[in-house]
Amino acid sequence: MVWANPTAGVREALAPLLRRFGPEYWREVDAARAFPTEFFDAMGRAGYFGTFIPEGFGGADAGPAVASLVVEEINRAGGDAAAINAQMSICRTLVLHGSEEQKRRWLPAVARGEVRFLAVAATEPGSGANMQELASTAVREGDGWVLSARKVMISFAEHTRLMILLARAEEGTTLFLLDLDEVGEKVERHPIRMIANRMTTSVFIDALRVPDEARIGPAGGGLRCLMDGFVVRRVLAAAEAIGNARFLLERSVEYAKTRETHGKLIGVHQGIQYPLVQAHMKVEAADLMRWDVLDRVARGEEAVARSAMAKVLASEAAWETTRAALTTFGGWALAAEYDCERKLREGTVFVFNNLLMNLIADKALGLPRA
Ligand SMILES: Cc1cc2nc3c(=O)[nH]c(=O)nc-3n(C[C@H](O)[C@H](O)[C@H](O)COP(=O)(O)OP(=O)(O)OC[C@H]3O[C@@H](n4cnc5c(N)ncnc54)[C@H](O)[C@@H]3O)c2cc1C
Repeated sequence: MVWANPTAGVREALAPLLRRFGPEYWREVDAARAFPTEFFDAMGRAGYFGTFIPEGFGGADAGPAVASLVVEEINRAGGDAAAINAQMSICRTLVLHGSEEQKRRWLPAVARGEVRFLAVAATEPGSGANMQELASTAVREGDGWVLSARKVMISFAEHTRLMILLARAEEGTTLFLLDLDEVGEKVERHPIRMIANRMTTSVFIDALRVPDEARIGPAGGGLRCLMDGFVVRRVLAAAEAIGNARFLLERSVEYAKTRETHGKLIGVHQGIQYPLVQAHMKVEAADLMRWDVLDRVARGEEAVARSAMAKVLASEAAWETTRAALTTFGGWALAAEYDCERKLREGTVFVFNNLLMNLIADKALGLPRA
């Protein structure tokens, strides 16, 4: 097997920056429900936002293996890579399907971190995960479009300048790029408080006129354009979950080696050891699947079902690791200063896997579609 691991040096390069933004920084950001501005800006200055952007547009074009290591390492250091993941990867839709004009205008500034591109507005109150039956509409008027939308659970919508909006045109689902500096007044945003600090909002748009130049890809081709990015999005989600798991596992092992009760280290007890061993094995197995997918992507091979498997396995391994960390830390697991409770909350974001199971049933096993 040819491992697609062109990532030598990435962990080492990131380490000093991640040491500056340790778990205490993330605890404060989480408690304040704030955007991690200082960390985000530091990552921008260090050049990580150009990971998927071609060199001709100011990026480094380093690819998905590097991106997956970046998000894993942030979480493994006790951080939350969600905003960094969004800024690195949402612009891929523009890289793959944007017009020359859109790419020239936005990609260099996104690569530098000067323009935040953090939001995709797909989910609706009535449609949930089903992006084929959107109620939000795009109606042609003259040489432009009139957009009306009701979206829910949209991450970072209050912290981004650029947003991709999915709406139903006559031809089918279509993507639009909104510059919220320009049209933000007509884009109502209301926070939806979640268990984790994902800065989710509802988004309401009422008869917003945009020029045809705001469209990304062909009218009616929106789902196809978005789906081109799904394999990489899944592998990055897997890497984030693996990073969370490794943070908790490393912390738990350290605690088990140093915490004494009744004159003994708690790490001698099988009741502590076995859950950690199980968690370790499952995280390592999920990681192999993650690198297998990256290897296939690097060789230009199809990896739809395996990317879904990598995400499901990694999120389940992380969930099991969280349970083992709770057992290891006992009551202290629930105290904010130990970070287990924060990682427990952040980990909930990764556990929704039903639609990926449907995909695996169909693509890997050939079972009839739900
Ligand atoms: C923290 C967070 C951030 C989010 N950020 C964004 C964002 O930035 N942009 C965005 O567009 N959306 C975002 N979402 C929304 C997310 O994409 C939706 O939660 C998801 O699409 C599912 O929609 P729903 O929650 O309405 O569930 P529903 O679609 O109502 O489904 C409910 C449950 O039924 C299951 N289910 C539904 N259909 C099937 C089926 N056919 N087979 C088996 N099970 C099924 C689902 O898996 C789920 O468990 C975010 C959600 C969260 C929690």
